[in-house]
Amino acid sequence: MKKEYYEVLGVSRTATKDEIKKAYRKLALQFHPDKNPDNKDAEEHFKEVNEAYEVLSNDDKRRRYDQFGHAGVGSSAASGGGQYGGGASDLNDIFSAFNDMFSGGKTRGGGSPFGFEEAFGGGGRRGRASTGIPGTDLKIRLKLTLEEIAKGVEKTLKIKKQVTCPECNGSGSKSGATENCQTCHGTGEVRQASKTMFGQFVNIAACPSCGGEGRIIKDRCTSCYGEGIKLGEVTVKVTVPSGVEDGNYLTLRGQGNAGPRGGAAGDLLVVIEEIPHELFSRHGDDVVYSLAVSFPDLVLGTKVEVPTLDGAVKLTIPPSTQPETMLRIAGHGIGHLRGSSRGDQYVKVNVFVPKDLSHQDKELLKEMKKSSGISPTAHNDEDAKGFFEKARDIFS
Ligand SMILES: [Zn+2]
Ligand SMILES: [Zn+2]
Repeated sequence: MKKEYYEVLGVSRTATKDEIKKAYRKLALQFHPDKNPDNKDAEEHFKEVNEAYEVLSNDDKRRRYDQFGHAGVGSSAASGGGQYGGGASDLNDIFSAFNDMFSGGKTRGGGSPFGFEEAFGGGGRRGRASTGIPGTDLKIRLKLTLEEIAKGVEKTLKIKKQVTCPECNGSGSKSGATENCQTCHGTGEVRQASKTMFGQFVNIAACPSCGGEGRIIKDRCTSCYGEGIKLGEVTVKVTVPSGVEDGNYLTLRGQGNAGPRGGAAGDLLVVIEEIPHELFSRHGDDVVYSLAVSFPDLVLGTKVEVPTLDGAVKLTIPPSTQPETMLRIAGHGIGHLRGSSRGDQYVKVNVFVPKDLSHQDKELLKEMKKSSGISPTAHNDEDAKGFFEKARDIFS
């Protein structure tokens, strides 16, 4: 697993910007490649320190990191093609916008108060790449209600996946002993020469006996049959930010299937599925609620209670409200994915036309019809049309 950024810099989670800067300067100088020529460990440390500083020195990135961990600030390592790269396609990853801060050498060193850009251009975590076979990515669906999406939610998921075998600690061997592969003599590669009319070609392929590992385990673990992994169930906590949409996914680095015999774990992709709401329809970060109002109330105005994602709210229907008017209840929509504000709720006002009327009701309506102000004239009809079209345009 990736090291905690605060741990890397040796500061507390509440450290001030100054403290972070100080810690970074000290460590960056200590591990700078110029001072540690040909020292792989120092180089790795130096990269880690720089990566940690890039995130923690930036308020926005630090906030994301505090909230979502490494996933929140994107896979910086992906830009270097390292251990964590190459997993998921981030096309639809909701954090993709945060990844681009690491893409390209130009922006990568931007936060450094030194001029060390060249030292970690194309950085990544090459040096720490695991020798085992990497575990596969895992994809799960997470159904969320609109209420959960509106405010963000923390979910605890039970997941069946390949876990490191507890009997052999993932080594695949009871005693942990291994021996050189006889097929490839420990190189992990096999060469096959083939003669063609153009001459002799040598194909190099991963050794089929050891899977390219170069070593074969002795006394196989009986619990995992030497694989080092077995099916298990784990619980994973996922923090879903507000404003996610159907098909978005969160990438939890290193939470996928464990790799055979010590290989790095794959990623866990949590794909968001929005459960349709029975009262509200979603339009981006706004929600729409349809409300039927009686003709007299539309004309005279009234106060009603309407449901929102936060419970019932009082709403004033102003006098002379036209059907299909959109009334806005500010701040009762979906929380924006970026930023802390929320969208709005719109109440689409419709006229309620009763189907069953008593004799008395009918007489009252007939009485009302006699009034000259109740029927459209050429003038106010035209007026109303324009109004309807405007109201429709909002969400068409
Ligand atoms: Zn081999
Ligand atoms: Zn085992």
